[in-house]
Amino acid sequence: MNKKYEAVIGLEVHAQLLTETKAFCSCSTKFGNPPNTNVCPVCLGHPGVLPVFNKKVAEFTVRMGIATNCTINEHSIFARKNYFYPDLPKGYQISQYEEPICENGFITISTKDGSQKQIRLKRIHMEEDAGKSIHDRNNETLVDVNRCGVPLIEIVTEPDLNSGEEASAYLNKIHQLVRYLEICDGNMEEGSFRCDANISIRPIGSTELGTKTEVKNMNSFKNVEKAINVEIERQINLVEDGEKVVQQTLLWNADLNDVFPMRSKEEAHDYRYFPEPDLFPIVITKEWYEEIIKQIPELPETRKNRFTQEYNLPEYDAEILTQSKYLADYYESLLKFTKDSKSASNWIMGDVLKTLNEKKIEIQDFSISPNRLGSLINLISDGTISGKIAKDIFPIMLEENKEPLEIIKERNLFQITDETKLEKIINDIIANNPSELKQYFEGKEKVFGFFIGQIMKMTQGKANPKSVNEILRKILAQLKEN
Ligand code: ADP
Ligand code: MG
Ligand code: ZN
Repeated sequence: MNKKYEAVIGLEVHAQLLTETKAFCSCSTKFGNPPNTNVCPVCLGHPGVLPVFNKKVAEFTVRMGIATNCTINEHSIFARKNYFYPDLPKGYQISQYEEPICENGFITISTKDGSQKQIRLKRIHMEEDAGKSIHDRNNETLVDVNRCGVPLIEIVTEPDLNSGEEASAYLNKIHQLVRYLEICDGNMEEGSFRCDANISIRPIGSTELGTKTEVKNMNSFKNVEKAINVEIERQINLVEDGEKVVQQTLLWNADLNDVFPMRSKEEAHDYRYFPEPDLFPIVITKEWYEEIIKQIPELPETRKNRFTQEYNLPEYDAEILTQSKYLADYYESLLKFTKDSKSASNWIMGDVLKTLNEKKIEIQDFSISPNRLGSLINLISDGTISGKIAKDIFPIMLEENKEPLEIIKERNLFQITDETKLEKIINDIIANNPSELKQYFEGKEKVFGFFIGQIMKMTQGKANPKSVNEILRKILAQLKEN
């Protein structure tokens, strides 16, 4: 980036809440049902109907507010946001405008230089989603209103972010939190976690805000980061060419790696907000607040710190293990079956996460139980198998529904620790490789590794590495003396 400018970014995240029914009626929120079947007179906006507020929506929102250090307003109100669009049969969206439920929070992110930075949250409010227009038919637009009335929270930051990377770090944290709190599934592809970015630039040292643009339509963290960086570049080039940034809404095009103005017709906003006359104000009583606090699990930051202390793990491990609540839960279940907290961590960070990535599944769908993985780890520490053999057993456990010990017996994978047996194998290998032996005596220490490799090959990885090392050293020393 051009060193003369600083980028200023504020994010608006929409997270779909995991309630079973919609915000103001009893229709299902289930994704993927046949179009226009999750509907009723209320969410279709028929005349004369009345919305009934789903209490869960407030509870979920307050959970997020507490987790992000917000003030929870005892009294908040709904507002009508009026606009016309084919996927909005009511002609308005119920949202919050003045007096939102949560305000003035913050979360902490780690920046590229390793320091911690606070990002202030302006507000978190509740609102209902609109339906979906599907434009990809030839000359036809289809409308699916199943999503009308599905509850959302909108989380709005102050303009505290200064790069695409920081925006991505912030999003990761928010994403992690909504999943820990079990209020949103975080699925960006299905649109249950969406982000709009407000972007401006200003000369370094200036404290005034520049004219912002709003970029929409990014459906992955990667795309948010890319889109922001592309837009920052575009604004800098404009200003450098003596032109002005025009306030407008831009759409990210992932195929073309660029942003394009939204048709201006779609942009003319005058929402004429006014207080929703059909709903009472939301009052979060002290009792209700106390009840909601109890629904909040141990949060990632606290859990991470506890992991480093209680299980003696490096910060790095604790960070990865607490990425998701379910991964952290898996780790702690695993520790019910093995005492070796660091090995357990290594297995999860290595083979387990690799498997989840390859199979594109979540830990909840992982086929090896903590009980069995624990047994595998214990079989290494008690010397039954070598660590190397364990790596071969793991994929078998993925495929076959068997205890590790059963697999070891079936395939005779027990570790060879018998010294006489190992000595014989090692002597044979040395005898068969006289030129390597000569090189070793001439001082080529690397040849030691060659011998180890040969021994492991000969024993199909079953030799106890520690014993092999000791015996080989001993035999070579003896040979050298003679
Ligand atoms: P609007 O009324 O256009 O939606 P808001 O004041 O509600 O604007 O702010 C929306 C988001 O844009 C917030 O995240 C805010 O921090 C951010 N924002 C506001 N002004 C700027 C600016 N000049 N540059 C970058 N972000 C901004
Ligand atoms: Mg806005
Ligand atoms: Zn309905």
